[in-house]
Amino acid sequence: MTTLRTPAQLCERGLASSEEMPTLEKIAARYATALPLPLAKLIDRDDPRDPIARQFVPAVEELHWSESEMADPIGDDTHSPTEGIVHRYPDRALLKLTHICAVYCRFCFRREMIGPGKPNSLSSKALERALHYIRTHPEIWEVILTGGDPLILSPRRLRSVAKSLADIDHVKVIRIHTRMPVADPARITTELVRSIKVKGKPTYVAIHVNHSRELTAAARAACARLADAGIPLLSQTVLLAGVNDTPEVMGDLMRTLVECRIKPYYLHHADLAPGTAHLRTDIATGQELVRNLRGRWSGLCQPTYVLDIPGGHGKSPIGPNYIEAGAAPDIVVADVNGQRHVYPPRGGAQKTDGLECGRDVSGESPTGRGMQQPLRDSRTQ
Ligand code: SF4
Repeated sequence: MTTLRTPAQLCERGLASSEEMPTLEKIAARYATALPLPLAKLIDRDDPRDPIARQFVPAVEELHWSESEMADPIGDDTHSPTEGIVHRYPDRALLKLTHICAVYCRFCFRREMIGPGKPNSLSSKALERALHYIRTHPEIWEVILTGGDPLILSPRRLRSVAKSLADIDHVKVIRIHTRMPVADPARITTELVRSIKVKGKPTYVAIHVNHSRELTAAARAACARLADAGIPLLSQTVLLAGVNDTPEVMGDLMRTLVECRIKPYYLHHADLAPGTAHLRTDIATGQELVRNLRGRWSGLCQPTYVLDIPGGHGKSPIGPNYIEAGAAPDIVVADVNGQRHVYPPRGGAQKTDGLECGRDVSGESPTGRGMQQPLRDSRTQ
């Protein structure tokens, strides 16, 4: 498969102009570029804000680094006891096998650490040290293979790692985070699928997708090969300005994922990676989007909106709060249409700050912004 890797190649394909070349060369000197041709072909050259181009084609804004941005925005290094391991939460550890990806996302939070020129993959000795760390930490229940993209490795190498992990008694779950089904679906072969399945230990695959257009027929077929093999599929999506920051685009993505048997898992607030301010939204935008998803679409289509707190403090859910006021036993909770209710409801008209039990009497709907379709019976959704 052909992959565009240089400013000149992007220029040849009409994805950059010759005037942009000096700037793109500066960006290329710092951050890796790889755009597989099938993904490049999805780009509408006449749309200056094409959501596929915004994710993968270098932009001049990448040279503008804001003060709050940092090389290691989620604090991987702070929690790395040995090369290749990040152990941030007690019950799970990341195992970073490679620093290479099939496509390089312009907003990647590991952009300072990945790509050609960075250490390619764990040496056998470093991998043995990483496995030793996992073996000697019985609290590690789940190991997450990440990178770079672990599915860029050969099935033989993946098999060997999966087997080594499965042989550790206390490791009960293996999870793989990947963009490969979207970036290079042909790599998801039967042999690769077999290589990541191990007897007695479930392997979950979390697929990174940010726009429904990424789920081409080939990508859907790759996901189906994984799902048909009995591998549970999850998604992770990064909230990106100009890519998926409207209810329509995000809703369409979540529904498409579910149709592909991929359960929406995380919606990440974009991290403070260097040169990515043009792709970040504010948190209020994300909360409004999530509130809108909740009000409109099936419970299957609801990801958890999370922020990785800079400095290595881990993920926190940052979705909207539906509990608005009150202290037990008089909690005020907003429904998906913005109507406010006292909980638990009591017989008669119990008043709390302008509210009657079970209905909004204040005349305003503080949480109803953006609600498009009121739900009649939210319990069935
Ligand atoms: S595939 Fe993942 S690791 Fe690779 S550039 Fe994209 S976000 Fe970063």
